[in-house]
Amino acid sequence: MERTEVAIVGAGPAGLLLAHLLQAEGVDTVVLEARSREYVEHRVRAGVCEHTTVALLRGLGLADRLDREGLVHGGLTLRFDRADHRIDLAALTGKSITVYGQQEIVKDLIAARLATGQDIEFEAADVRLHELTTDAPTVTWTDAHGGARELRADAVAGCDGFHGVCRAAIPASALTCYDHVYPYAWLGVLAQAPPSHEELIYPWHPRGFALHSMRSPELTRLYLQVNPDERLDDWSDARIWDELATRLATDDGFTLRQGPLLEKGITPMRSFVTETMRHGRLFLAGDAAHIVPPTGAKGMNLAVADVRRLGPALVALLRKNDSRPAEAYTERCLSRVWRAEHFSYFMTTMLHRFPDADPFVDQLQLSQLRYTTRSTAAATSLAENYVGLPFDWP
Ligand SMILES: Cc1cc2nc3c(=O)[nH]c(=O)nc-3n(C[C@H](O)[C@H](O)[C@H](O)COP(=O)(O)OP(=O)(O)OC[C@H]3O[C@@H](n4cnc5c(N)ncnc54)[C@H](O)[C@@H]3O)c2cc1C
Repeated sequence: MERTEVAIVGAGPAGLLLAHLLQAEGVDTVVLEARSREYVEHRVRAGVCEHTTVALLRGLGLADRLDREGLVHGGLTLRFDRADHRIDLAALTGKSITVYGQQEIVKDLIAARLATGQDIEFEAADVRLHELTTDAPTVTWTDAHGGARELRADAVAGCDGFHGVCRAAIPASALTCYDHVYPYAWLGVLAQAPPSHEELIYPWHPRGFALHSMRSPELTRLYLQVNPDERLDDWSDARIWDELATRLATDDGFTLRQGPLLEKGITPMRSFVTETMRHGRLFLAGDAAHIVPPTGAKGMNLAVADVRRLGPALVALLRKNDSRPAEAYTERCLSRVWRAEHFSYFMTTMLHRFPDADPFVDQLQLSQLRYTTRSTAAATSLAENYVGLPFDWP
């Protein structure tokens, strides 16, 4: 049987960053990932980093490329009534966000781990957790060569996303799950085209929401609100560009730059929270414990905030025999999680049109948008949530 201090399941942002946080404290880890390195490094997902996420990566010496290539934004645009209404994040909060693709962070974290001689077990199949309520849990899996493996650890970190095995290893009687499914989805595309605007644009439009975002000066990331049962085959590139141009149109002649579509996908919209994030020596982090609709750009940042708390809690537990931070882990994380859940719900329901359009709801949404952009108090509330709350948020 192999031996480590912390077995980490999942090499997404949560698992990889936790491995670095623990390594910085001299704690030994093994990272198990179901997919190949190639796959996880090219999975296009989030792209907005809160200032605290950037600060953490910088503090660990993991932000060199992010600092060179990341796009720092001091504002965002709400677009409605065919006009732009800018939220000046920097003026309202003194903080900014950085646009840098999640897959770029994943690439940087993998490269940095391998560079120190640490490994990642890619293509680990049939991962199973055992004896979680003892102080010597074990993990079994089949490795990329078909070999049966068994690992004993002092703790297990479940960083394996929403569909992983770790949350499912907790008895149902020990879990309370809050689940909310939205009646719409996002069709996301990555276009080989320079962004059409220097910042993110969140439009409200009678035909539904769209989002103009970017990943680099050469790559635009765009989304369309669609029905959850929409078929990708029904969306030709021409139809996607037409619909985006319609929903993003303004009276002052906004032009959408077009280019080849490198990637297309449909993502359902869901809010989900698991209440407990700890079972014995298993600790959940990131999407394994909670997900948000992407409208508030919170998913990856919440994953980072969880492991920022989990790292020191594990060090205290394993090195100082102090279990208090581990015992407080769920409660401390969930305070931030619920705030982000509410903000993501607020942004989503303010900007998306329901399938059975209700003119009353339309007017409520437009009223909220006008209030948010005309009241400094309302704009500041949106801005402080968007740039991200401090790590020590109670
Ligand atoms: C399709 C999609 C699109 C998204 N788009 C956006 C967006 O545009 N903007 C935004 O802000 N947020 C977006 N998000 C949310 C954001 O990407 C997530 O919140 C973020 O990835 C959470 O990081 P994580 O490390 O917790 O989980 P993940 O990134 O999901 O990482 C989990 C890892 O565990 C691995 N794994 C799963 N099961 C097992 C297993 N049994 N054994 C071993 N490994 C396993 C997975 O392969 C994966 O590498 C998106 C999420 C998804 C799913």
